[in-house]
Amino acid sequence: MTEPPARRLLLVHAHPDDESINNGATMAKYAAEGAHVTLVTCTLGEEGEVIPDGLAHLAADREDSLGPWRVGELTAAMKELGVTDHRFLGGPGRYRDSGMMGTEQNHRPGAFWSAALDEAAAHLVEVIREVRPQVLITYDPDGGYGHPDHIQAHRVAMRAADLAAEPAFRRDLGQAHAIAKIYWNRVPRSVVEERFRHMARELPHSPFTTPAAVTDVPGVTDDERITTEIDGRPFTAAKAAAMRAHATQITVAEPLFVLSNDLAQPLFEVEYYELVRGETSPEGARGPSAIRENDLFAGLERVTDVAEVTAL
Ligand SMILES: [Zn+2]
Repeated sequence: MTEPPARRLLLVHAHPDDESINNGATMAKYAAEGAHVTLVTCTLGEEGEVIPDGLAHLAADREDSLGPWRVGELTAAMKELGVTDHRFLGGPGRYRDSGMMGTEQNHRPGAFWSAALDEAAAHLVEVIREVRPQVLITYDPDGGYGHPDHIQAHRVAMRAADLAAEPAFRRDLGQAHAIAKIYWNRVPRSVVEERFRHMARELPHSPFTTPAAVTDVPGVTDDERITTEIDGRPFTAAKAAAMRAHATQITVAEPLFVLSNDLAQPLFEVEYYELVRGETSPEGARGPSAIRENDLFAGLERVTDVAEVTAL
């Protein structure tokens, strides 16, 4: 038996493409450093709008074959990021994309939004107890921007983290495991505002015409709440390539991209997080944001060693 990599990172996302937009550089960085990176995607993104005219027939209101197509896009994206462990919650197609808030798709059979929380969380508990990650990344309670599947992904991830650590819960799903650090995806408001000011100069040199609004960026929050920033600049090309692999959903023209609404957004080379469980460990951090951590695993090395020794 081979030893599992010491650093294990789990990400929980709603649809294929969210991982690359939010965490592409972080995933590529940790994969390149030899950490085990596990992505769990909760739906196939069946209700997404399709950008390329030639693929419009895949859409939910036509052939309804976008889900399987996006499995292929996600696979290609993971190849770009160097991530080999990607799974769908409960298996591919177990939960369906719920569409935007307030639509009838929210309540159709199998919609993720309608899923029983503990039942959905149990699928994730099984993954947590198998992979035994020290770090979990998911959305804030609003899902970043209020999409039902993003809100539900947040709830399932937080619930599963609690249940996985509970020895009495579903012993058939493996030995209890407590995740040491939990992060929510965030972007500091000052950074977003600065990037949008800069975009006025970038737009004329891009294929895009209309800027999005600062409020269109998911997870924007007060700077003080940001505990951690991951400098993904060496992995920007990988992040852009992964986003490009989701071609039905994203058009990339670095340093900008658009979703199906055709509104230009900046592609963030630094990715930001709010630690909500565990201790921050900013020692050793450098640069202008020295009070922030620059490693998701900061402060965990000793804890991990102790846990490994105890387990023997
Ligand atoms: Zn999404």
